[in-house]
Amino acid sequence: MFGDILSISRLRMGTDGNGISTLVVFFDCPLHCKYCINDFCHKPQKPFVGVQHAAFTPQELIEILRKDDIYYLMSGGGIAFGGGEPLLQSKYIHKVCTLADKRWAKRIETSLNVPWDNIKPVLYDMDEWIIDIKDINNDIYKNYTGKDNKNMIKNLLKLRNKISSDKIHIRIPRIVGYNSEYDIEKSIQWVRDNIGVEPEVFSYIKAINR
Ligand code: SF4
Repeated sequence: MFGDILSISRLRMGTDGNGISTLVVFFDCPLHCKYCINDFCHKPQKPFVGVQHAAFTPQELIEILRKDDIYYLMSGGGIAFGGGEPLLQSKYIHKVCTLADKRWAKRIETSLNVPWDNIKPVLYDMDEWIIDIKDINNDIYKNYTGKDNKNMIKNLLKLRNKISSDKIHIRIPRIVGYNSEYDIEKSIQWVRDNIGVEPEVFSYIKAINR
């Protein structure tokens, strides 16, 4: 079993949850966000020079992660699985989690817009689910990502019933040209009413405008 990995970024602070983390960035994503900063993660690859696919077995990845073990333990950090959409490779991630030190935090950064079967393998592996829901208005979501948000909402409601709400961290982006403060307020209210957590609002940086 191999993970199709775009990059491994060590010693990150304040970007992937508490403490010092290693971010493992996976290839491929079902969405096509207009301001995607990792557009080259999509498959099939457009002609793109310089982006290598790296294949690691779970054990090989663990060896890399272990290099920063002391930092994770001192700071409450650990592994962050990101992408792309890491849940496309959830069986691999589950295997990594079973081999990882129990004391390392395990976090996943996801859009949650995948089949539920992709969520199941890691349902109980994560200490934190960092979920970027874009916007709760389906027209805005679709306009921005090219995909419907109904599946994401269904998954989110299901997840809320399966895991403790303190493991759910919802992020709502300000997307210039796509959602207004009014739209964002509606998304915040929906999250409060339906998931019972206080979401984080942040601003996208418009890195690439395709
Ligand atoms: S979810 Fe992330 S990786 Fe996927 S298209 Fe959107 S910004 Fe890019």
